[in-house]
Amino acid sequence: MGRLQKILIPLLGLVLAFWFYSARENFKPEMLKGKRVIVTGASTGIGEQIAYHLARMGSHILITARTETKLQKVVQRCLELGAASARYVSGTMEDMAFAQHVVREAEASLGGLDMLILNHVGASYFGFFDGDVEHVRKLLEINFLSYVAMTTSALPMLKKSEGSIVVVSSMAGKVGFPFTVPYSATKFALDGFFSSLRQEFSIQSINVSITLCILGFIDTDRAVRAAAAVLREVPAPRDECALEILKGAALRRRELYYRYSSTRLPLLLRDCAAELLDYLVRSRYR
Ligand code: NDP
Repeated sequence: MGRLQKILIPLLGLVLAFWFYSARENFKPEMLKGKRVIVTGASTGIGEQIAYHLARMGSHILITARTETKLQKVVQRCLELGAASARYVSGTMEDMAFAQHVVREAEASLGGLDMLILNHVGASYFGFFDGDVEHVRKLLEINFLSYVAMTTSALPMLKKSEGSIVVVSSMAGKVGFPFTVPYSATKFALDGFFSSLRQEFSIQSINVSITLCILGFIDTDRAVRAAAAVLREVPAPRDECALEILKGAALRRRELYYRYSSTRLPLLLRDCAAELLDYLVRSRYR
């Protein structure tokens, strides 16, 4: 009987775990049909691809970045792909008043908000930390503080719609990466802020989901230009990455890992073999 229990209980656990995970809801594009979404950093790269996927799914889209000519083209393409509506606001996320203005624009033009996708990223260098404190401050404003400012402004609308916040981060925001010290610092800050905020939402029964996206190397022009020559890894496709972000967001996942094999799996080592993980990260570089 004792032996039977030893086998039966773990087996039951496995069956329950399988049932729990297989019973989780599957993604359907209709989930985003008619949703009102802001996408930042959508003039190029992953943000641009997110906008196109949303357009195919029939969402109302408000995109933003600095370069107006690129935003105009993305809006035009979104309308061709079937967006319920598409518009842009151009400006810089160095300016917190602009970050708040984008949210007000969504309120005025869309009458509310269902999803806030925070994706923009300021330019930084790829190399040893050069001691430029002013650069770290500026990058924190663009990559972190503007995310906080937009979230704060959007929260009343998101509470009303029981909507979602999507935060695009990186493996460099979970584990120390060489050559991107200021960038990594801003991404770690996002984890601290949004993971703590998620806890408070839970305590206050605020039904706004927060999905933190942990991305590996993606084939956007900026990333390939900066790192392709030194990274041993083949970058993952940006359009697939964008779709995975939207799936995770629609399913209100807590964290999204893309690609799983180069993000979630190595991170399993973080608590039990941190030095091995550091070594593996360093060995990715030529
Ligand atoms: P890109 O450089 O391709 O795009 C960045 C976007 O942000 C552009 O639309 C750019 O437009 C905008 N942007 C830059 N500076 C500002 C600013 N000061 N104010 C407002 N908008 C600005 O980046 P990716 O698509 O590669 O990255 C998207 C996200 O994914 C980022 O958060 C990044 O950290 C993350 N990520 C990417 C990885 C990769 O390998 N590509 C890996 C891990 C994470 P404009 O210049 O017109 O303002």
